[in-house]
Amino acid sequence: MPIRFRELPRPFVEAQTLEVSYSGIDAYQACPRRFFYGHVLHVQDPSRGANTTLGNKVHAALLALNRQWMEEGEPPRDDAVQAVWREVWPIDRATIEAALADPETRVRWEPGFVFPRQVVQGWQRGAGQLRRYFEWERLRWTGMHHRPVALEQPFQFELNGHVIVGRIDCVLQTGGGDVVIDYKTGKPKNGRKPEKSLQLAIYEEAWRLQSGANPAVAYYHLAADDDQPGQPLDPWRADKQARQTRYTVEMRDTLWAEIVGALDRITANDFAAAPKEGRSTCDACAYRLWCEESLA
Ligand code: SF4
Repeated sequence: MPIRFRELPRPFVEAQTLEVSYSGIDAYQACPRRFFYGHVLHVQDPSRGANTTLGNKVHAALLALNRQWMEEGEPPRDDAVQAVWREVWPIDRATIEAALADPETRVRWEPGFVFPRQVVQGWQRGAGQLRRYFEWERLRWTGMHHRPVALEQPFQFELNGHVIVGRIDCVLQTGGGDVVIDYKTGKPKNGRKPEKSLQLAIYEEAWRLQSGANPAVAYYHLAADDDQPGQPLDPWRADKQARQTRYTVEMRDTLWAEIVGALDRITANDFAAAPKEGRSTCDACAYRLWCEESLA
């Protein structure tokens, strides 16, 4: 029987401890019904587009390259970046050139991609973004000598009887203090501002509890707003691609009030469909094709 004709299940009982990550809270903020599908019914997210595949590969390469940086003391050079990218996503040079010249060329298929040239363009895009990012890190390293001190750092802490879990992409130790970084492969114009980020508020608290430091927080966007498919990339724009802030007490209070509010509503079993930005939230929702309340 469709969910709309039944009472929704009430999975949470009084005094239940909730274990939740930022992605759960984010799903709930976007639409409580989305959280219900993904985190209560555990319906697998059916979407795995090309951007998801590219994002996963770029994150894997970032982890390997930042690890090199941590061990060797300075950011990796172009040749090291390229070598790691070829390990993470093995396509040889001849195949790339052949695919660009002839759309019929066979290229190993990757989830979410539709045709061979798209795979090759995705490969080139990832390589270019990584080279651009580490070129910028090398440039500023000359004066700063900054370095990663934590990578894919797991955390778990208690909040009002619940457990918040997650993983921080990278913490950079700089002359101005630690910076907690979350890497994004989407463009800055489509992203969130650190000042309003529940994700970075959670990561800041996690690192503060683990290290005793009072870190800044940042989103580093590997893509730039002006990037064009198949075109050479402009140099890194720190003012647009590295968005950093340090929370004031007031900012922190506002963000944590939102997080606590979401947890309270989850444990009150409030899962009514309420897409935050109406149709555009449903358009981007992985469950839109079969959600009974979808506006898409
Ligand atoms: S399709 Fe829309 S209403 Fe349904 S879960 Fe997704 S965001 Fe919510």
